[in-house]
Amino acid sequence: YQAKRDRSGVEVYEITRDGNTPDRLGLLGDLRRALDAGEVELHYQPKVRFDGQVAGLEALVRWEHPDRGRVNPDEFIAMAETSGLMPQLTEYVLDTALAQIARWREAGIDVPVAVNVSPRDVHSPGFAGAVAARLAHHRVPPGCLQLEITEHVLLEDPQRAAETLNALTGHGVKMSLDDFGTGYSSLVHLRRLPVSELKIDRSFVARLVVDPEDAEIVRCTVDLAHSLGLMVVAEGVEDDETWERLRDLRCDAVQGWLVAAAMPPDEATTWLRARGEGGWQRPARPARTAA
Ligand code: C2E
Ligand code: MG
Ligand code: MG
Ligand code: MG
Repeated sequence: YQAKRDRSGVEVYEITRDGNTPDRLGLLGDLRRALDAGEVELHYQPKVRFDGQVAGLEALVRWEHPDRGRVNPDEFIAMAETSGLMPQLTEYVLDTALAQIARWREAGIDVPVAVNVSPRDVHSPGFAGAVAARLAHHRVPPGCLQLEITEHVLLEDPQRAAETLNALTGHGVKMSLDDFGTGYSSLVHLRRLPVSELKIDRSFVARLVVDPEDAEIVRCTVDLAHSLGLMVVAEGVEDDETWERLRDLRCDAVQGWLVAAAMPPDEATTWLRARGEGGWQRPARPARTAA
């Protein structure tokens, strides 16, 4: 199979390279088993405000395949979505995240956690009720849970999606609009969706400093979000210059490797404890050396 390395040097298995082969089907069966076997884990990536305050954590799924190594989430999520495995994956992710929120709360750490949900979830009947039931089961206040959705939820049945999202916010769950700018007719969507947060897609953030058009897109998005009363988070912030530019553009919070990559629960606990009081502080900028 094909493998590439991620930033930490971990080999990441790429499914798409295999096409629709028996191997892909094998992997699908593996995912089914992996969910039961607990091979799938959640890692947590902080969202921090510019004053260093931790605004929340995002739960990101990680699958360590016994033979293939780490499988790229974008790819097995897409596979789960088309194969009908999404409800099981989401149920697993929700339960794991809620159990972790409860554990943190017991330990005196009160931090909202965001879970990514797919359009398939939002369209499945009873989803809002199921989320409410899981919150009650774990005795987690609804305000501690955030659900990240994308504009794609409105593609299939906008009316139905809006009903589900309204039911969720009615229960007190917060909604965040992920990957903003990558869908289409974003303005219409924004007006229709009961979201309280908007996340600017990494593709606009990555070249913000070097590309004036991307900078303009980010500026407009921040202004638009604020005029609608939404909090704005920039995804994929990797360097100081981008951080500074986003602060100047009045973005509210950032997420990215500059702050921290997604961490396993224990590491996230340590990170939260260390930042609990003073918040996250940007390390001093290293002196530039002439090339
Ligand atoms: P997303 O929700 O937009 O998550 C952001 C992705 O960007 C994550 O990739 C994260 O690890 C990565 N990232 C964070 N900071 C940086 C950075 O500074 N630079 C770069 N280059 N990347 C950064 P990941 O974990 O591979 O997840 C990919 C996508 O898979 C997520 O995009 C989300 O759409 C989906 N996903 C992840 N976990 C779940 C889940 O539990 N359920 C569902 N339905 N989807 C999930
Ligand atoms: Mg997300
Ligand atoms: Mg995103
Ligand atoms: Mg994304």
